[in-house]
Amino acid sequence: MLNYTEALHDGYAQSFRVDRLVHYEKTAHQELAIFDNASFGRVLALDGVIQLTERDHHVYHEMIVHTPVFGHGEVRDVLIVGGGDGGALREALRHPDIRVTVVEIDAQVVETARRHLSMICGAAFDDPRVQIVIDDGTAFVARTDRSFDVILIDSTDPVGPAKALFSPEFYAACRRRLRPGGALVTQNGVPLFQGEQLRASMIALRRIFRYATCYLAAVPTYTGGPIALGFATDDPGRLGEPEALAARVAASRLEFRYYSAAVHLGAFALPPAVLRLLEP
Ligand code: SAM
Repeated sequence: MLNYTEALHDGYAQSFRVDRLVHYEKTAHQELAIFDNASFGRVLALDGVIQLTERDHHVYHEMIVHTPVFGHGEVRDVLIVGGGDGGALREALRHPDIRVTVVEIDAQVVETARRHLSMICGAAFDDPRVQIVIDDGTAFVARTDRSFDVILIDSTDPVGPAKALFSPEFYAACRRRLRPGGALVTQNGVPLFQGEQLRASMIALRRIFRYATCYLAAVPTYTGGPIALGFATDDPGRLGEPEALAARVAASRLEFRYYSAAVHLGAFALPPAVLRLLEP
């Protein structure tokens, strides 16, 4: 029986039994594998790194989307950079007034998600409120004159094409594309293993925005403890004032598996070891 072993961290690995190989290819950008596993259902891996599983993707996708959207309260336009699996897109579209632009560098991720990850993306790619752009996120953000209320960097880890998505220049370009009150959310890895990466992003974000912090979400297959999502804005009021936030979430009548107003607020409570990573 074949195993798929992710060795993202030095001296430590997580391994999945491949009960069925659904799809494998080398795209122009990366190695793409989709397989089924008895415990986690369908799994997507890129360049040997687990991106999502059917069983726990909701934690990441709910937290990357609904935290900034409910915190802001008046979001109309969302930009997702990366995110070609469609999971964050699908969550964003649950808000009826939101339009979404997805900029994904690898057309094959979108194509394969449509074919093999319908349990993650549903029919999100066919929604008339969606624009899909196949391009490097840095190129798109540099050339577009459009502006957004929320920008989500739903990227792979900072190697290969995703590296530039963690640069100060890119963060500054994103800030220029945010409307007043807008927020940028970044995928920043697991602090226990990727603390230096989080620190570098936080230093950059704090120089560029008036306010930057991170919040945490426990995604079992991002091993090593909770993952950090960077949150940067020029208007810290958009983090979510408790009573207004709870009222907004209740008024949406949306149901979640992980996200709630209480989880949203609690996610910004950072353990001292993570807080220290945010200090210059
Ligand atoms: N939830 C995932 C995680 O944190 O592991 C991220 C998933 S999503 C599949 C990441 C996507 O970012 C990939 O499909 C990859 O092709 C895309 N990506 C990487 N670099 C990019 C870039 N420079 N511009 C746009 N998309 C990029």
